[in-house]
Amino acid sequence: MKKTITISELFEKYNKALESALKMNYLVRDTSLQEEESNNLKSLKNLIKSVKYQVIEHGDEKLANRLFHLQNVLNSVSSLLQMWVVIKKEEYTAAWGLLIDAHEYLDLALKAIQGDEGFWGLDVYQQKLKTIEEVCFPGFPLYNSWGAKTKGGKCTICKEYYESCDHLEGLIYAGRLCTIVGYEALEPDHSALVTNPRDRRCIINKISTSEGFMRDYITWKLTDEPVPSVEEAGSDPMIMNCTLFVNHMIEWD
Ligand SMILES: [Zn+2]
Repeated sequence: MKKTITISELFEKYNKALESALKMNYLVRDTSLQEEESNNLKSLKNLIKSVKYQVIEHGDEKLANRLFHLQNVLNSVSSLLQMWVVIKKEEYTAAWGLLIDAHEYLDLALKAIQGDEGFWGLDVYQQKLKTIEEVCFPGFPLYNSWGAKTKGGKCTICKEYYESCDHLEGLIYAGRLCTIVGYEALEPDHSALVTNPRDRRCIINKISTSEGFMRDYITWKLTDEPVPSVEEAGSDPMIMNCTLFVNHMIEWD
């Protein structure tokens, strides 16, 4: 027998799942409970996504966007719970990546209902994300930002070459984000330290010290990695080890 679910039942499930998951959104909560809640959110997200695809087939753009909104909020909270799990394992760079995922999913959730009212206290959640970031991480004065020569990327909406289609990168079309994937060539041609990068995952990892060893920028621990010598540098150069590029995209469809 095929099970069916109504849209209002789906919204009810969504509200209950979020209420339950947000009870685990604290450092001191049990790790296995946090993992369990994060996985529950992922399962519900998959259900919502499958309903969304049926809605897209029926041509209901507004409902598809609302379901995409729910999908992104669930992805955001699920990422945040995973961040607590990983932070307790002292995997801080991975934790930072998950926090950025949570931010990006929330931004996408808000974009999906632009001009429409939200369904849940997202402003409170957004503030909480910012607070968690400030309390858990030292803040990065600079990030790495790169530019690249690209060729042959395809549009995620129509699957055609982006250059020849009418969709615009960053816009949402009936519950899906237009972005460019599957480049035939991607050749980074420059990078720069900036305060407002395209990807906040590209952080400073280590900095040089006068002790002659590199310091971990997140934990502030002096590592046993010697400061590399740099030719043609001034008398007291600051040497940084940065992440230049992270091959990671959040769910767009
Ligand atoms: Zn397109």
